[in-house]
Amino acid sequence: MENLAALDQKHFIHPTSSIQEQQVSGPKAIFSRGEGIYLFDRDGNKYIDAMSSLWNVNIGHGRGEIAAVAKEQMEKLAYSSAFATFSHEPAIRLAAKLASLAPGDLNAVFFTSGGSESNDTAIKLIRHYWKLQGKAKKKKIITLKRAYHGVAAASTSATGIPEFWEMAGHLTTGNIHVANPYMSTATQAITNLQETIETEGAENIAAFMIEPVQGSGGVLIPPDDYLRDVRRVCKDNDILFVADEVITGFGRTGKMFGVQNWGIQPDVMTFAKGVTSGYLPLGGVMVSDKIHEIFKEKSTGTLFHGFTYSGHPTATAIALKNIEIIEREHLIQHAQKMGELLLKGLQTIRGKLAIVGDVRGIGLLAALELVADKAANKRFDPEKRLRLR
Ligand code: PMP
Repeated sequence: MENLAALDQKHFIHPTSSIQEQQVSGPKAIFSRGEGIYLFDRDGNKYIDAMSSLWNVNIGHGRGEIAAVAKEQMEKLAYSSAFATFSHEPAIRLAAKLASLAPGDLNAVFFTSGGSESNDTAIKLIRHYWKLQGKAKKKKIITLKRAYHGVAAASTSATGIPEFWEMAGHLTTGNIHVANPYMSTATQAITNLQETIETEGAENIAAFMIEPVQGSGGVLIPPDDYLRDVRRVCKDNDILFVADEVITGFGRTGKMFGVQNWGIQPDVMTFAKGVTSGYLPLGGVMVSDKIHEIFKEKSTGTLFHGFTYSGHPTATAIALKNIEIIEREHLIQHAQKMGELLLKGLQTIRGKLAIVGDVRGIGLLAALELVADKAANKRFDPEKRLRLR
């Protein structure tokens, strides 16, 4: 039989993977099928997809209903462009549906193909917004240390995990990473934010971008008042508040959007992953009425920003079906209920195993920390690459 693992090693450069390790060990598994929470590999092994792949397969694997919609849409109109105001029904209907679901007055959406493109787009749209109002100096973006916002140009630099921008250097300037409330106290984090705004000058700062719950940085759930306080500081300083809901959107935390756990109203919200549950790539940026009004009033001529796949007909058609399934099957309430059970189970494991330290979660976004010494909360030596075993 053809040696797929060897072909993988020879030809496939994997995302966020060790190239050297791949050359030594080959792919960890070659999956061939998914069903519900399970993945199956070519050798017939069955896995629980505990991370929901990349926290994105919110409705589970193997949904025939989604495949049927994709087939129907592909046969009718697989693709047409949305440039130069050409349009099509699935994107229009999805935009309207998202407006009905998003918090407050986030009523207009710019579509992309994923989270990184969404955050780059958000940063460009925000700078455009300030420029249109004669405030072109408002360019800097504040994010948290350990934040993950993606790997395109602006989103790489917005990411607060240094490894991601160390590999090729920053591609954009004006990125500021401030204290993380999980690693300091919430009060210290707010003070650090306020001092940073003072030092940099609010007149130079475009936006503060944050994941309502930090995902890749370690599933860090913000202390209770933190997001509300940040929201207030942004408002007081005329800085836009951007919620990166790429992981937390579409039910993952037990609410449709993560910010709804804390009653926060963003000016801008980015999403991807759960909008299609990964069945096709799609993302987007939602803006408030105020921002949309400024665009309508002052953005004369062409908006020179657009991806070939912005508002892809088939991707938007299946997103509508995905959201219908989330609503019809009450998956958000389910995530709350199952999240409680999951957390209880993880706590039981913590009680039994010496290497399990902190356990935390919200909805179906949870983590346990592996520690070398529980009492001292001491991590394993990263050189040992424990997580890759
Ligand atoms: N923002 C957050 C919070 C993410 O978790 C991710 C992906 N894990 C991204 C942005 C980037 O999304 P994508 O990988 O679809 O480009």
